[in-house]
Amino acid sequence: MGGCHSYPSATEADGKTLQPSDISNDKQGINNNNLEERPYLQQEHVCQQITRTDMLVLTSLPPGVDKAEWLASNTVAFFKHINLFSSALSEFCTPTTCPTACGPGNMIFVWTDDHGRKLKCSAPLYFDYAMSYIQDLLTDEDVFPTKTGSAFPTGFIFLVQKVFLLLFRSLSHIYWSHYRETVALGLQAHLNTLFTHLTLFCQQHALLELEDTKPLQDLIAALRKQG
Ligand SMILES: [Zn+2]
Repeated sequence: MGGCHSYPSATEADGKTLQPSDISNDKQGINNNNLEERPYLQQEHVCQQITRTDMLVLTSLPPGVDKAEWLASNTVAFFKHINLFSSALSEFCTPTTCPTACGPGNMIFVWTDDHGRKLKCSAPLYFDYAMSYIQDLLTDEDVFPTKTGSAFPTGFIFLVQKVFLLLFRSLSHIYWSHYRETVALGLQAHLNTLFTHLTLFCQQHALLELEDTKPLQDLIAALRKQG
């Protein structure tokens, strides 16, 4: 852990998602897929899913369920899945292989600390900050209450949006920089299913801006076509 290990407080995150300035294009992000930029778009890959479940039904708010509860339980579930998935690839994501946290189109994600300072850090460090930030939010009883009758805080939706943006970036980095290793481990069908589930959930509940998903819009469209 470096000395810059701090992250936006719940209060600061309240009311807004990460700003566009958190993304920088002034340096090349490393694509580790053997010079092939977007192998994940090939038909032999996009057709791979681990289930043919109707994702629209799976992501919709079930009748009689409180919307905040639905968002909260899904946030926890997606965090656990993506954290587990990232751990499976963690040996390939090091400060040497990934000196910057990058995603499709060579965009670079920049972490903003709780003093508003922008920190360019390696991908493993960026995602370590992101996962720690999410973990702290999820275990904060004032943000994600677990006791019956406790109310969700004002601005809850904005915190959920921020969590999903970080989770989306985590999968973006895997597609961009570690797709080759994902295939080598036989995890591409799991990745496609997880990504389809996440992006559809976000679309159904307006959790991500089009600007944020744009770099992977080609993949989102290709995967939806399969479904
Ligand atoms: Zn990496």
